[in-house]
Amino acid sequence: MSALEVVKEDGGARLGSLTTAHGIVETPVFMPVGTQGTVKAAIHRDLAQMGAQMILANAYHLYLRPGDRLIKEMGGIQRFSGWNGAVLTDSGGYQIFSLGVLRDIKEEGVTFQSHIDGSKHFLTPERITEVQENIGADVCMCLDECVPYPSSYEYTRASVDLTTRWATRCREAKKDDSSLLFGIVQGGTFDELRRRSATDLVKLDFDGYAMGGFSVGEPKSIMWQMVDVTLAHLPREKPRYLMGLGFPEDILEGVKRGIDMFDCVIPTRHARNGSLFTGTGRLNIKHARYAHDEQPVDPACTCYTCRTHSRAYLRHLFVSHELTSYYLNTLHNLHFYMTFMKEIRQSIAQGSFEQFYQKSMSRWKGGELNSESSICDG
Ligand SMILES: [Zn+2]
Repeated sequence: MSALEVVKEDGGARLGSLTTAHGIVETPVFMPVGTQGTVKAAIHRDLAQMGAQMILANAYHLYLRPGDRLIKEMGGIQRFSGWNGAVLTDSGGYQIFSLGVLRDIKEEGVTFQSHIDGSKHFLTPERITEVQENIGADVCMCLDECVPYPSSYEYTRASVDLTTRWATRCREAKKDDSSLLFGIVQGGTFDELRRRSATDLVKLDFDGYAMGGFSVGEPKSIMWQMVDVTLAHLPREKPRYLMGLGFPEDILEGVKRGIDMFDCVIPTRHARNGSLFTGTGRLNIKHARYAHDEQPVDPACTCYTCRTHSRAYLRHLFVSHELTSYYLNTLHNLHFYMTFMKEIRQSIAQGSFEQFYQKSMSRWKGGELNSESSICDG
């Protein structure tokens, strides 16, 4: 039985509900990134109030600090952190392979040096599965190898096959039936290898399928082509997750194609850099033009930040490096994302996603500040 119930389809877009051990998650869903078991500059109460149902944590980071066994001893990530919703843990493959962590890949697993203290670690697919079960994730991810862009066909093919063998081992190592396990489709920018990866993983019958290895520098058009190739080989009834991608226009493109799950550091990281999302594009609060601006960030937004503060005050906090700046900006950006996802789901429910897509895209194009080219580095 699939954990996902597809309630309605509207063109390629899907409205669904994903059942997890910590509640039902309405899809399409955007998961705020809480790498260390906390969404940066946000508190759980606000996340819950704005409608976040699932957050993402990172198994690699939590394994290194405070340690998965400590989290298990403290009753799992929900009890330890006080977050009552669902949690998905990324296995950390992306961090190990892409963030310059010194590593050595072998069939058995990967040896790497901690980015915190330089200590040496060896992680196997079995151990990373255990780590995620100790953390108490509702959705666990298989260990995968992310290849850099560009990579040769031969290297990418060998990597896809290694990722499939590791996925097989993760599946065998999984003990707890209350959580879900997703396979991760790789294959770089090769149609044939994306197809091969998807087909091989589907044979292993995972609870859901993620698409990884994007936003590593490849052109956007190639990325969407790879997403399309992959989607054609994934079962309709299982959840589909596009990893690490998350400008609003990317989410719209993904939803249109039938993606159910998204995560990205963009709303939170941009908030800390003073870049705030609005219905007409993004504004950079540090800009001198806002120094005397009495308007809220987004007049259409109902978040605490917009209901309480002017652009002028938020600019003052930002240029003064006040800590509340991070909090207030993050609150707004996450509220913007959660509202945006709600609107997407409503439009699918009403059979008007295509109109919502067109309206949103044209509004951003004609907006005060067009969104910059999208790149998300997880
Ligand atoms: Zn707001």
